[in-house]
Amino acid sequence: MRVLKFGGSSVANAENIKKVNEIIKKSAQQDKTIIVVSALSGVTDMLLQSGTKAADGDEVYKENIRTIEHRHFEAIKQLIPVAHQSHLLSLVKKSINEIEDICNGIFLLSEITPRTKDRLASYGEWLSSQIIAASLNYSSFEITWKDAKELIVTNSNFTHAEVDFEKTNKKIRSYFKEADAHTFIIPGFIAVNKKGITTTLGRGGSDYTAAIITTALNADILEIWTDVSGMMTADPRLTSNAKVIHHISYREAMELSHFGAKVIYPPTIQPVMNKGIPVWIKNTFAPDDYGTKVTTEIDKSAEDEENIVRGISSINNISLLSLEGGGMVGIPGFSRRLFGALSSEQINVILITQSSSEHSILWLLTVMIPIKQREQWIKYLKMKSS
Ligand code: ASP
Repeated sequence: MRVLKFGGSSVANAENIKKVNEIIKKSAQQDKTIIVVSALSGVTDMLLQSGTKAADGDEVYKENIRTIEHRHFEAIKQLIPVAHQSHLLSLVKKSINEIEDICNGIFLLSEITPRTKDRLASYGEWLSSQIIAASLNYSSFEITWKDAKELIVTNSNFTHAEVDFEKTNKKIRSYFKEADAHTFIIPGFIAVNKKGITTTLGRGGSDYTAAIITTALNADILEIWTDVSGMMTADPRLTSNAKVIHHISYREAMELSHFGAKVIYPPTIQPVMNKGIPVWIKNTFAPDDYGTKVTTEIDKSAEDEENIVRGISSINNISLLSLEGGGMVGIPGFSRRLFGALSSEQINVILITQSSSEHSILWLLTVMIPIKQREQWIKYLKMKSS
């Protein structure tokens, strides 16, 4: 059994969905296949933006909703013959009316809560998965749509809900044990809390949905289909001779992702990694490219011996913060105070270096923080010194 996850750019429009459908069909010829999909690219942002605009009293949210409607209608019109469109068009229309009602409520109250944000954001994956399922079914390929809300249970930490693995694994295993279909499609990112209220797994959460299903079912492989041909030895925008890494270990992949190579999101692959299930990164727009296979260990071929450095990643927009002074040598507690202040301001530390010695007259602690949090830090310092 294999799990295939398609990201937002892979399902951005009808043209791309056709490519996705071909990949699904090919996979299903070889194995039982479960598909997890993201929303059409940009739709989650637009849904959330509609909510925040409505809360700000900005009626531009109505235009946003029209654009969301148009994108889905266009996809349906290009994927499904006219005679069979009406059911799906009315399904989309019903969701759009609900989105509108929710946003009108937000507009009246001038307030949006995390719970409402999740409700709004959930429409993206719900719609994309319905459209892909219908387009495949109309092309005489049988695929069973299953609501992620019936499979994934979380706590009520809206917008970043944590999965209740005991309940979730039980639900996933019992559903797939009973279901006799060969190919399934599930919306990513969406879940429910114990009361059945919609939650989401955090931005980029569709990868996580796929990983949860992969591990619950002990699938043979998780394929992440995206718009690049895998992880690269360096950022291709900065290094012209960067190459795709065909094989990488989980640890190396996590390390590269943490420092800028955004192809996979480390927490996502954690459950898959714990079980040693391979993750294969593939390109929807170049399906014959090998991509990158991530496994526990990698074979040490001669080529690998030559390429001891697997890859170099980089991160931009980082601010350096140095705390230095002679008076701090040998006096405990300075690091704790600095990190305490950063954490009280919710500032995320990316890297720490420290140099001090008994002989040094200078003690230097340098931390790196995202540049967008720099202003926050400056404001904090000003407040403290005033
Ligand atoms: N659609 C969600 C997002 O944009 C989840 C995902 O695509 O993985 O964050």
